[in-house]
Amino acid sequence: MYLDDRRKDAFGVPEIQVRFSYSTADWAVIDEMRKAVDKVASTMQALLTPTDDLPAVCLVPPGADYHEAGTCRMGIDSSTSVVDRNCQIHGISGLYVADNSVLPTTGAANPTLTTVALAIRTADHIAGTFAGEANSHR
Ligand SMILES: Cc1cc2nc3c(=O)[nH]c(=O)nc-3n(C[C@H](O)[C@H](O)[C@H](O)COP(=O)(O)OP(=O)(O)OC[C@H]3O[C@@H](n4cnc5c(N)ncnc54)[C@H](O)[C@@H]3O)c2cc1C
Repeated sequence: MYLDDRRKDAFGVPEIQVRFSYSTADWAVIDEMRKAVDKVASTMQALLTPTDDLPAVCLVPPGADYHEAGTCRMGIDSSTSVVDRNCQIHGISGLYVADNSVLPTTGAANPTLTTVALAIRTADHIAGTFAGEANSHR
């Protein structure tokens, strides 16, 4: 994702652009997933029925599911990530992110429960930090 200086919104803020393609590693995972789906289906003796429009096992086209993530990705290295393991912006004490953007990668599976669990964990961390500070002033 990058900011496009040639396209600006009404306030003059550059628009976000997305450049997307599957990497060789992605295709390897996709291939493994296809094989696993085939194996599960044959074990269950289920029929995977292709239609005119769709093969039996298919990829949802990029952009067809709405699980945006990764713009403030979590990681230990501030040169490749935005927030640390506690969802605090690297190097900025007290500034936290608690939404989908901290998920470094995502598939088609629904992300919201994971995001909510992470937000609760972040809130616990913030509360624990305040409790620690309060105790140290006693
Ligand atoms: C049609 C559809 C169906 C979905 N179905 C599912 C599903 O079944 N299960 C699932 O897990 N996920 C589903 N999702 C995905 C899920 O909705 C999102 O992953 C989730 O809402 C992301 O949460 P968030 O807090 O990161 O962002 P959001 O929910 O998008 O929250 C961002 C908030 O920031 C506000 N905002 C934006 N800009 C500003 C600004 N400048 N100042 C102040 N506020 C601002 C927005 O108004 C919004 O309220 C679906 C998404 C769509 C679009």
